[in-house]
Amino acid sequence: MSKVLIIGCGGVASVAIQKCCQLSEIFSEICIASRTKSKCDELKAKLENKTATKITTAKVDADNVDEVIALIKSYNPVTVLNVALPYQDLTIMDACLACGVHYIDTANYEPENTDDPEWRKIYEKRCEEKGFTALFDYSWQWNYDQKFKDAGLTALLGTGFDPGVTSVFSAYALKHYFDEIHTIDILDCNGGDHGYPFATNFNPEINLREVSSNGSYWENGHWVETKPMEIKRVYNFPQVGQKDMYLLHHEEIESLAKNIPGVKRIRFFMTFGQSYLTHMNCLENVGMLSTTPINFEGKEIVPIQFLKALLPDPASLGPRTVGKTNIGCIFTGIKDGKEKTIYIYNVCDHQECYKEVESQAISYTTGVPAMIGTALVVSGVWNKTGTVNLEELDPDPYMDMLNKYGLPWVVDENPVVVE
Ligand code: NDP
Repeated sequence: MSKVLIIGCGGVASVAIQKCCQLSEIFSEICIASRTKSKCDELKAKLENKTATKITTAKVDADNVDEVIALIKSYNPVTVLNVALPYQDLTIMDACLACGVHYIDTANYEPENTDDPEWRKIYEKRCEEKGFTALFDYSWQWNYDQKFKDAGLTALLGTGFDPGVTSVFSAYALKHYFDEIHTIDILDCNGGDHGYPFATNFNPEINLREVSSNGSYWENGHWVETKPMEIKRVYNFPQVGQKDMYLLHHEEIESLAKNIPGVKRIRFFMTFGQSYLTHMNCLENVGMLSTTPINFEGKEIVPIQFLKALLPDPASLGPRTVGKTNIGCIFTGIKDGKEKTIYIYNVCDHQECYKEVESQAISYTTGVPAMIGTALVVSGVWNKTGTVNLEELDPDPYMDMLNKYGLPWVVDENPVVVE
């Protein structure tokens, strides 16, 4: 029986909250808090008579540590689940430490203002030292490790699908199938069609920043950086079919390189159709993906935020999206002296998700793991202190819950590998 404060009430949060309400024996009380309180109230009204979980709502600006501290103190939860944006990770972590509660999120820290000179100094040093230029990395959150350890608290980092389930798949492969893992290819395929010429499946700002950046992968102990979309492969995904996929930088590469002993190469691929890429290139070329404010008719606007206002709200894609996602990892390595390859993946149907929680599969495949990670922390099954990435924990209870709560997985012991 636990009380959990959930910050954020967008696409991912909506699924995570509905899933928590299906598990009232663990989530006896939740408070939904976000910048726009009316969204929290709407979701509460939708769920209230269908669950035994007691739901309250609150308004909070999670960029403001003192506001978050005041909310935690007044609500008194055992943990905070951060499903707002990566911009709020550090302020919410600070508030959790100040109040002695666990912290959980789905994406690593990224600053909203990448022109901030203080942040840039640290970023540029990191680019030079580590060899990748993504705007996000784990160093900011890993710096909190000792503080969380000293407080006897868990900060569970990245319990979405990727990172999250892909990290658990890696731990599961190592525990049950390999003595040593040599390569990991993470394949994220969305075979869904929403019928719009252009829309993003989750927060447009976060999504477009990620996709328009340089790619990179980990090989033999160091990062290899590529131009955006430089490496393309074609893969025939089970239950989805053949898709073009492109190598991207992705945050779990950084933690898996640290936590999977002896791994030699880790790559991340995501599928994109030609129309998505053409739209994105065009928007980038005209400056619409910029996060630097400009003056427009006497008012300051941030181009990518203006674009977000024009694009369909990801939460509205649910009823229109048909098709399936297939996300998983191909592992190669050694077991009992012999070479071995396996592919662990989940297939998720957009329309099935919509029927269950009125959301498309991208929010679903992130929101369900957010609930599972939170359930395992609040019930004490996962109790490692400090900042913890999911591959550091026992994967078995998480894998069982994936099967039980809507994201069943498959192990293929004879897959086609990616060249
Ligand atoms: P949305 O934009 O749909 O929702 C974000 C929510 O956070 C909104 O309710 C927003 O409020 C709220 N919010 C934003 N700023 C603040 C603030 N300062 N204080 C309080 N609330 C705030 O995003 P998504 O649901 O698509 O994504 C949520 C998170 O999930 C992101 O961090 C994203 O990176 C991550 N993610 C992780 C994935 C994974 O597999 N690991 C995959 C997909 C997403 P308002 O309504 O006022 O805008």
